[in-house]
Amino acid sequence: MKIAQIDVFQVDLPYSGGVYLLSGGREYRSFDATIVRIRTDTGIEGWGESTPFGSTYIASHARGVRAGIDEIAPSLLGLDPRRTDRINDAMDMALVGHEHAKTALDVACWDIFGKSVDLPVCELLGGRTDVKMPVISSIYAGDPEDMRQRVAEHRRAGYTSHSVKIGDDPALDATRIQASLADRKPGEYFIVDANGGMTPEMALRMLRLLPAGLDFVLEAPCATWRECLSVRRRTDIPMIWDELATNDSSIAQLVADDAAEGIGLKISKNGGLARCRRQRDMCIAAGLTISVQETTGSDIAFAAIVHMGQTVPERLLRCVLESRDMVSLKTADGDFPVINGRVVAPSQPGLGITPRLDVLGEPVASYR
Ligand SMILES: [Mg+2]
Repeated sequence: MKIAQIDVFQVDLPYSGGVYLLSGGREYRSFDATIVRIRTDTGIEGWGESTPFGSTYIASHARGVRAGIDEIAPSLLGLDPRRTDRINDAMDMALVGHEHAKTALDVACWDIFGKSVDLPVCELLGGRTDVKMPVISSIYAGDPEDMRQRVAEHRRAGYTSHSVKIGDDPALDATRIQASLADRKPGEYFIVDANGGMTPEMALRMLRLLPAGLDFVLEAPCATWRECLSVRRRTDIPMIWDELATNDSSIAQLVADDAAEGIGLKISKNGGLARCRRQRDMCIAAGLTISVQETTGSDIAFAAIVHMGQTVPERLLRCVLESRDMVSLKTADGDFPVINGRVVAPSQPGLGITPRLDVLGEPVASYR
């Protein structure tokens, strides 16, 4: 089987909640998605998506995805898409880094591989667990009472995991955490995520303002490795790394430094399903918890999330991100509804999705 053609589509995904606010005054209203179709000489085709969270979240941006694909795509023509590690070798030979650009191509190859052997992608990644995966909410930083209400709305929809965003001011953030956890129910899981927006001084002051016994894990307090380790050494709060855990090397260093209890494994941040599979195994070997997520994205990105999440052992899987919940445009259909806050990977071959071609429009680039 050979890759015969690669088509690139672009769609804008409006944020479903109006304006998404992150630490440092960052605002997001819409997300620029790149969706890829890979066609093979057998007629089987595969789909993948890469949607950065704007240009100010991590070192990835939407036009960079398409420029990266332009750099890489010609060297994939003629290769067997089912040899997913070899595809990633070829991508690395064509372009160093830029994992967000490689992700859409990698995921499309896994989709083809699954269709070619009539198996869902999760079976190829190690085999599905029986877990009904809890989806996590994304509660942007705002007025504390409003955040409490938004947690309550997600709770009513069946969510038992919540990601509460902070990172502006120690006193305000302490109030946001207390408000968001005020109605906590048994079994609920709270991540408090600063997205790298705090100095060690801010983080330590905030933690001292909180009453003892609040049950949450602190995610990405600071922007740099040294700052996060500094906070880590001076508190007993469980920690998760996200923006700083992006590749095999950073996961290895994280384990060596005993820097956290878990990571946010985001498919495009961490470089696609082949790389995420390896990083998943490193985390399993080290006993780190895993939240399988994306920087954001529509139905095709969510399909990749659920297939990867479905392979993480239950004791280490914290949650998956329902990226579809964050955008108001549907790019594909698939049989993986969220029911009472839980989701199971589809059982159809490949990703198990049918793209909406009328939504995607004409390709913005084609390689053959
Ligand atoms: Mg995060």
